Amino acid sequence: MKENRIYNFNAGPAALPFEVLEEIKDSFLNYAGSGMSITEISHRSKWFDDVINDAVTRTERLLNLDDRYRVLFVQGGASLQFSMIPMNLLHEGDTADYVNTGSWSTKAIKEAQIQGKTINVVASSEDDDFSYIPKNIIFNRDAVYAHITSNNTIRGTQWPSFPDTGGVPLIADMSSDILSRPFDIDTFGLIYAGAQKNMGPAGVCMVIIRKDLLEKVPDTLPSMLKYTTYSSKNSMYNTPPCFAIYTVQLVLKWLEENIGGLEKMEEINRQKARLLYNVIDSSDFFTGTAETESRSMMNITFRLPEEDLDKLFVEQANENGFDGLKGHRSVGGCRASIYNATPVEAIEALVDFMKNFEKKNG
Ligand SMILES: *Cc1c(COP(=O)(O)O)cnc(C)c1O
Repeated sequence: MKENRIYNFNAGPAALPFEVLEEIKDSFLNYAGSGMSITEISHRSKWFDDVINDAVTRTERLLNLDDRYRVLFVQGGASLQFSMIPMNLLHEGDTADYVNTGSWSTKAIKEAQIQGKTINVVASSEDDDFSYIPKNIIFNRDAVYAHITSNNTIRGTQWPSFPDTGGVPLIADMSSDILSRPFDIDTFGLIYAGAQKNMGPAGVCMVIIRKDLLEKVPDTLPSMLKYTTYSSKNSMYNTPPCFAIYTVQLVLKWLEENIGGLEKMEEINRQKARLLYNVIDSSDFFTGTAETESRSMMNITFRLPEEDLDKLFVEQANENGFDGLKGHRSVGGCRASIYNATPVEAIEALVDFMKNFEKKNG
């Protein structure tokens, strides 16, 4: 553990790579020789232009995006995307498919319905407390898009592979697992991710959109709610969240230069998740709450034999330098969020703590 630092298992805002925090610290008062902080420079300056362009280029490289796609930075979090997607892409006479795998999917569905859009919930795991990812889903061939949540931050489930939509553009909320593993972009029409889980600080949401979908955006929408505004102005129609985008740029650089890309990142993430699931699987004291096949590599959800023990576990973990292990308030239990930036060392320390806790209380 680094001096004055603890092991951070928060779900979001979440841990950032230590190397990134150090780089921010070093350049904070004098960014790139400008004599100004990154929080003080103009978004119209060459300095910031380089930041945002580098962030876009690195995203394209890491995700293997070709020129069919545009990378945008939007404020309003992933939650605004729940509204912007149907607003921009789903029109009179159109329908879209949604898969409901938890609270975030439910919210995405609600925001489309609020606008009076026609959508079909083609599959849901609500029948079993959102503990699994539905299989063999039949999508409507005439849907304008099919929406999924790739990783369910609260329930601890994750799509092991992406569904075959039969050519319907897939839209995924990847807020809590973007850049955690490689995937094939071809089936996707749009991907969005709030930065504060796996990519940076709060305040910016990355949107990757296939250019042909931009043609669906109605002129009549307010400028700030149109994807075309962001794509035609390099995400700088108004003042963007400069510091958040700068941090995202550094995280992307860290992924490329320190980790070595997404194949390598996935390998590390699998190793990290395995360490924790091994403890859960080899004990009667800890019980995983997600079905084995649908388990998340990012959010490991589990329970102890009694609610009082969940509480004691979180309390004692806190006293021992582990933060963020309390499950989401809507589901209870415990949750360890182990995004890209969580080092293996933090997980090994948690594993030791869990084993000791079981010995004392099991
Ligand atoms: C956290 C989260 C959201 C909400 O993100 P905001 O940026 O707070 O709007 C949406 N979807 C998923 C999967 C999340 O984990």
